[in-house]
Amino acid sequence: MQLDGQRALITGADSGIGQAIAVAFAKAGADVAIVYHTDADGAAETGRRVEELGRRAHVIQGDVGDSGSVEAFFAQAVDRLGPLDLLVNNAGIGSGGAAVADLKDEDLERVLRVNLMGPVFCCRAFVRLRRQHGGRGRIVTISSVAQHLPTPESAPYGMAKAGLGSLTRSLSRELAEDKINVNNIAPGLIQTPMTQARLDDPQKRDQSMERIPWHRAGQPEEIARLALFLASDAGDYVTGQTWTIDGGLSMQ
Ligand code: NAD
Repeated sequence: MQLDGQRALITGADSGIGQAIAVAFAKAGADVAIVYHTDADGAAETGRRVEELGRRAHVIQGDVGDSGSVEAFFAQAVDRLGPLDLLVNNAGIGSGGAAVADLKDEDLERVLRVNLMGPVFCCRAFVRLRRQHGGRGRIVTISSVAQHLPTPESAPYGMAKAGLGSLTRSLSRELAEDKINVNNIAPGLIQTPMTQARLDDPQKRDQSMERIPWHRAGQPEEIARLALFLASDAGDYVTGQTWTIDGGLSMQ
């Protein structure tokens, strides 16, 4: 599964799953635009690891929930690396802490803006640039098993992630003539900064491990391998699909 000479833009590539995908893509031969929101050190670390693998890295600060920022970071990535071949919509934030009855407008809007509108803004920018400049054309989006498994006090997160499955199916039809394939990965519990507090709490950790048939959390590199398959020639004829990767969590 090679990506020789291709150029990828990955949102939220400063930590966790996004960082693992950036490294996997660089190992496969791709240059990477690393978009981060607040963790400049994490983004610099990803950039260092990409460059150690002999590929180009360009680190850009941006906010996927702001369409102006998205336009700006895509323009900068193309300017620095050249036409983009691959987009990974990975950036996301958790919701949590409030049942729908107690939900504040601003919390609902923030989760939908970053987790759902953000990937729409990024897909739009990617497709417009692809039509203008060329490039190979692969989109991989990271949603979650929460798109079909309700988690207590996390309705906005699940709603946003469910929307990404629908976005993937719509885009697979809209972009077929462009020969852009579009796929969606729905991870279960993966060990990243987003889940570290849960995994560090012995009681919550045991509850989680009990629910997962494989009794372990997934690793970011396991998600990265699936993203690489979907982005490489091996995944050429696959489009519009949601790929669940969860150690069997959703099989209950
Ligand atoms: P993480 O906290 O390490 O990464 C989240 C990333 O999103 C960070 O790099 C952050 O910079 C970026 N981000 C947040 N808000 C942003 C914004 N407004 N603009 C740009 N970037 C922004 O956590 P992670 O687990 O690696 O999460 C990556 C993706 O995987 C998320 O979409 C998350 O919902 C999804 N996911 C994670 C798990 C899990 O168990 N860890 C499970 C299912 C899905």
